[in-house]
Amino acid sequence: MTAPTPVETQLRDAGLKATRTRIAVVAALRDLGGHQTADEVSTALAANDAVVSRATVFNALDDLTRAGLVMVADAGPGATRYEWADRWHHHFVCTSCGAISDVACPEDSPRCVDAPGVEGTVDDVQVIFRGTCSSCIGPGAETT
Ligand SMILES: [Zn+2]
Ligand SMILES: [Zn+2]
Repeated sequence: MTAPTPVETQLRDAGLKATRTRIAVVAALRDLGGHQTADEVSTALAANDAVVSRATVFNALDDLTRAGLVMVADAGPGATRYEWADRWHHHFVCTSCGAISDVACPEDSPRCVDAPGVEGTVDDVQVIFRGTCSSCIGPGAETT
């Protein structure tokens, strides 16, 4: 049994200083789960009496994303959504209610799909699946 790596260690391994703000932002993303906007992260921090400015939260999220610790969930137009993710994955977006859920990446790799015809290098591929989620379809909708 190995204990989970402390956030401080993960930050330092990624070349970032383990500042209180970064640790608090990671903790908030972990606790909230799912896909959160910077505003939602700010609100969560404020609820924990960790009052930091919105700009500070933005900077921390930016640093964490660049370092590869936090993933930006590409879910189409709207505010940028961040998440604490162990594995590369894609997203399903409900066009009716806007719910976002994770779709496992079959290759478990940021470059899971070849991009024919692209001249240059591809860093990552995020696919957005769009459709109607099961709660919007409603119970029994398939049989009616
Ligand atoms: Zn829905
Ligand atoms: Zn996700």
